[in-house]
Amino acid sequence: MRIHDIRQRLRARGALALHEERVLRFWATARAQAGGRRRRDDFLPRGVRDDLPALEAELAGLAWLRSTHPSDDGSARLLVGLADGQSVEAVLLPRGGLCVSSQVGCAVGCVFCMTGRDGLLRQLGSAEIVAQVVLARGLRPVRKVVFMGMGEPAHNLENVLEAIDLLGTAGGIGHKELVFSTVGDRRVFERLAQGRVKPALAISLHSTRPELRRRLLPRAPAIEPAELVEIGERYARATGYPIQYQWALLDGINDDATEIDGIARLLAGKYALMNLIPYNRVDGLPYRRPPVERAVAMARALQARGVLTRLRQSAGQDVDAGCGQLRARAGAARAV
Ligand code: SF4
Repeated sequence: MRIHDIRQRLRARGALALHEERVLRFWATARAQAGGRRRRDDFLPRGVRDDLPALEAELAGLAWLRSTHPSDDGSARLLVGLADGQSVEAVLLPRGGLCVSSQVGCAVGCVFCMTGRDGLLRQLGSAEIVAQVVLARGLRPVRKVVFMGMGEPAHNLENVLEAIDLLGTAGGIGHKELVFSTVGDRRVFERLAQGRVKPALAISLHSTRPELRRRLLPRAPAIEPAELVEIGERYARATGYPIQYQWALLDGINDDATEIDGIARLLAGKYALMNLIPYNRVDGLPYRRPPVERAVAMARALQARGVLTRLRQSAGQDVDAGCGQLRARAGAARAV
């Protein structure tokens, strides 16, 4: 279901723009769940009021909690069931963050990612994306939403932009607290700049060597790292938010002096933040995180060369759940 469909349904029952916003705000902020009958339903046209119980039941059925997997770092992975029996993962992050999925599966096929192994199964509708936020808000407050779960948001652009628009308006999330994460796609940079809600942007770089990056991200758009950074810099200057570069640290692959030189060459002096994320092991894949000393040394070397760098912990590490693993495991359990 798309938010566009909800709006059309409300309009067909006589809703004006302010009625639409009211109904959508109650949903997106999870007040409908939390005893929202306090709201002034009598303010809504009769046709909308009559349809509201059915609409709210449909919205509540878009996403449901199949299981929760808390971690010692304060994060918790959620396996989220969808109405058609599919499922996706969302992650409650420390300090009110939530990581959501935008697709079931993913077509980019990053070699280190469980989600990418089965390819794309289906797109999520914009309402299913927002429904993950509503579900999480039933568990605790959500002040930041990052689109870094299953899927490549650029491959489901209309639905992701619709979800961002709603979350950044009626959903009450600050625009820079919405983070669109992409492997890089020219359409994304054009469209994000046009929206009334302009999210922050994260770019999955993973290597500054074009040939290695093509091997790691085999079906990402063919944009050279240097060009990606140039395009990203224009977006950062236009919005006033730094670009967050994502770098999955893979032992012996992208953690050497050549990459430190490459990152320093591309990012020194740019309005950018480099997130080094030690890799979460995935069963059946040969990749490992580097020793902690090497990761720390890489972060320090980048800082010393003028690149603002954070060495991150990958949330959910201690529940053995890299992106896509919960879903894969649930599927295997069903198949037994
Ligand atoms: Fe897709 Fe992200 Fe996995 Fe790459 S890392 S395959 S873009 S979900």
